[in-house]
Amino acid sequence: MASDGDAVIDRHGFDALIAELRRRGFRTRGPVVRDQAILHDEVSSTGDLPGGWRDQQAPGRYRLEQVGGPELFGWAVGPASWKSEFFPPEEVVWRASVDDGQVTVTEPDGTTEPVALIGIRPCELSALDVLDRVLQGGRVVDDRYAARRAGTFVLAVDCGAPASTCFCSSMGTGPAAGSGYDLALTELTDGRHRFHVRVGSPAGAEVLASVPREPVGDGDVAERRGVLEGARAGMGRVLDTDGLPGLLDGNIDHPRWDEVAERCLSCGNCTLVCPTCFCSDVDDVTDLSGSVERRRRWASCFDIEHSFLHSGPVRASTSSRYRQWLTHKLSTWWDQFDGSGCVGCGRCITWCPVGIDLTEEVAAIRAGDRETVGDAS
Ligand code: SF4
Ligand code: SF4
Repeated sequence: MASDGDAVIDRHGFDALIAELRRRGFRTRGPVVRDQAILHDEVSSTGDLPGGWRDQQAPGRYRLEQVGGPELFGWAVGPASWKSEFFPPEEVVWRASVDDGQVTVTEPDGTTEPVALIGIRPCELSALDVLDRVLQGGRVVDDRYAARRAGTFVLAVDCGAPASTCFCSSMGTGPAAGSGYDLALTELTDGRHRFHVRVGSPAGAEVLASVPREPVGDGDVAERRGVLEGARAGMGRVLDTDGLPGLLDGNIDHPRWDEVAERCLSCGNCTLVCPTCFCSDVDDVTDLSGSVERRRRWASCFDIEHSFLHSGPVRASTSSRYRQWLTHKLSTWWDQFDGSGCVGCGRCITWCPVGIDLTEEVAAIRAGDRETVGDAS
């Protein structure tokens, strides 16, 4: 059943939505095809979106192909996550220079016009909620993140074409956007290309009211239901989350950690593509003129120096680093932030060069745990 305010727009209506957001002063950022992947860039109309492209994803494999057709969103998430909009991979935190014996410290002005995220997927929306809790929801607020995040307009798009590496259904984060959006679209392509639009906020209602739209019909509702059922059925992977934090806590000495370490390259790709990983490091860079720049950049728990204390790394082995990453995402994150650190986007599986799959690793630990319990009884 359609809710009050929901509507249907066609592609011209979608163009009008983007134009209206730009008129209101938003930077409109969305998915584009670049470097043979779906990345994020400025979009000024639906012509900039990846129309007619499909992706193929598998552990350690990603390919895009142009198949034609009207679909603008016939693909799953690419390697770039939206966290870089608000938490860039590298940035200058402050600069200091010496002039006539006087030290001057300046902070680059990180403020920009608010951004409108065009086409953010439900799992990524959940990832932003996770980042909000981590970076601005506690006692310590990351001012740079909070300034960029303020006033964001979220135009989400439900997922109709999950990849074989996706498992958002298991994590309760998709394929339909649940909350946190201003407008949420579902792309419908049966017969006539159009978008079912749900309103999630007064700002969303206001923007939608300014574009050409139609009321939602029974056929639109049925078609949307079919798209979401198809996405759920086509979800490539499953993660059994039942009692997961306790399962991992109780298996820190499981032999599977050593087995996965024989394949893991400790490259850190999984942390860099993950939309919720938030670790960073700072470097002070000096030059001969005496000026100094403090730069913040993403860090990875797979880097041996990440856990370096006065006498050496706390996690010297690959197995301890993989275990740290996985148990943080799925277990200790709950203690810290009252939720899962994984939203089921599948990026860490696709972009792992050796195809390590966390759903497989968890299943192996669960199976081993059952055997242990069975042996004991
Ligand atoms: S751990 Fe993997 S599947 Fe989970 S959110 Fe991060 S990249 Fe996505
Ligand atoms: S699990 Fe894969 S992506 Fe992550 S560090 Fe190991 S080899 Fe790299």
